[in-house]
Amino acid sequence: MVDTHCHLDAERFDADRDEVLARAFDAGVAGLVIPGVSPDSWEPLLRWPGRDARVQVALGIHPQALPELPPGEDDRHLRQMESLLTRGAACAVGECGLDGPSVERGASMERQAAVLEQHLALAVLHDLPVLLHCYKAHDVLLPLLQRVPLPRRGLVLHSYSGGAGLVAAYARLGCWFSFAGPVTWEKARKPLEALRQVPMDRLLAETDAPDQAPVPHRGGRCEPMHLQAVLEGMARGLGLSAREVAARTGDNARAVFGDVFRVR
Ligand SMILES: [Zn+2]
Repeated sequence: MVDTHCHLDAERFDADRDEVLARAFDAGVAGLVIPGVSPDSWEPLLRWPGRDARVQVALGIHPQALPELPPGEDDRHLRQMESLLTRGAACAVGECGLDGPSVERGASMERQAAVLEQHLALAVLHDLPVLLHCYKAHDVLLPLLQRVPLPRRGLVLHSYSGGAGLVAAYARLGCWFSFAGPVTWEKARKPLEALRQVPMDRLLAETDAPDQAPVPHRGGRCEPMHLQAVLEGMARGLGLSAREVAARTGDNARAVFGDVFRVR
């Protein structure tokens, strides 16, 4: 099992991060990816893979972080990211993307789109995949992705929320589709309908810890060991065994991120 998206660097893990990680490995998580969300997270993140190759990291500015960052600093932050990417320690660019509710919090969609485009350009330059966040902004994201050069290594739509109807269009652009806890929630019709449209060779799994805990942990803090519950939810939705979905999504994760996760 590979958890392609978890925020293990979040404050909510400060008290017991090592235990959380040990529990994940004990539960069969062979590797996990921690996406960076803001410039101050990048340097500490880059130290992880050298300590334990099962923990891989990405560098990005989350659209929900933009309201707290001065717009005049965007270019400087992106230059800083570029110089850190040249170290070669990050397995992807992201988390970046578009977030509808963040517009009201002070990050205009124009600014979000400009920052996203620069992330995509850096991914092309460094030949890395991109970890994308998109919430209530698919009407802007899809045309943007259709307009700009995209990284050869592909794009991961994390906790995919675009619905079944957009799967084909995103797949044509080289997107991967990652699913999290919502596939296990009661009345979660939309993610399950989307899940069934995704080609098996484009499917990924994640926990998005500490958010979006799957049933039976819903409402509590999500952690990477809950990936098993996410995979079981995906398996129920697809009519497959959890073992089968774990193997497929694990293989796909290795295809996206390269051979950074060697063991299954
Ligand atoms: Zn995230």
